[in-house]
Amino acid sequence: MTDRKSELAANLARVEERIASACAAAGREREEVTLIVVTKTYPASDVRLLAELGVRHVAENRDQDAAPKAAACTDLTLGWHFVGQLQTNKVRSVAGYAHVVQSVDRPRLVSALSAAAGNAGRELGCLVQVALDAEAGGRGARGGAAPEQLAQLADLVAGAPGLRIDGVMTVAPLAGPYAGREQAAFERLVELSSRLRADHPGATMVSAGMSGDLEQAVAAGATHVRVGTAVLGARPRLG
Ligand SMILES: *Cc1c(COP(=O)(O)O)cnc(C)c1O
Repeated sequence: MTDRKSELAANLARVEERIASACAAAGREREEVTLIVVTKTYPASDVRLLAELGVRHVAENRDQDAAPKAAACTDLTLGWHFVGQLQTNKVRSVAGYAHVVQSVDRPRLVSALSAAAGNAGRELGCLVQVALDAEAGGRGARGGAAPEQLAQLADLVAGAPGLRIDGVMTVAPLAGPYAGREQAAFERLVELSSRLRADHPGATMVSAGMSGDLEQAVAAGATHVRVGTAVLGARPRLG
């Protein structure tokens, strides 16, 4: 193994151990939680090494960075997740490689994604990003729709050709009533997810938890954790 591959393997083993312990502590099966490795700012060569090490899902947050990387990795069997704030002028590109867009937070984005999926002849999974710091009707500081908008957005996605409503995503808020209370925030997301599933039984994904708070996410009931720095190392620049 190259030095980089050994480093990634060791980091992955540590993250795997953390997820397994968190599942055991919560009385959950390890299979209930899927690891998504956030590869933003890291090169396609790292994505390739991760795939060789058994990673099945990767996530990116900027189309400029993600599009060439995905193009360099089309021979790999990977699920690509888009997790960043998404402008409508990038939707066409994202719809060309993403399998799941986790950051759906406004009606305009739903219609743009639907049109792009149609043009690309692909079906896109969508998660509504919920901002637990958003006031009613507002949007979160890090993107996301207010909880009150979840049902309407999910209905729009479910009715949009080329789109599939897969569930919900959140980023632990830095401000508002949930600041510093990651587990409470994730429990709130799980509660919103249960309500959503009454109308959309297929919307089973609950994407929550990153390098610093994956244990709290697993304890709260997350089905997917998004881990960047704990696998790849501290990012060279803000991303
Ligand atoms: C960067 C990012 C992550 C991963 O964060 P780490 O702290 O590096 O694990 C997860 N989710 C989103 C939306 C991100 O932008």
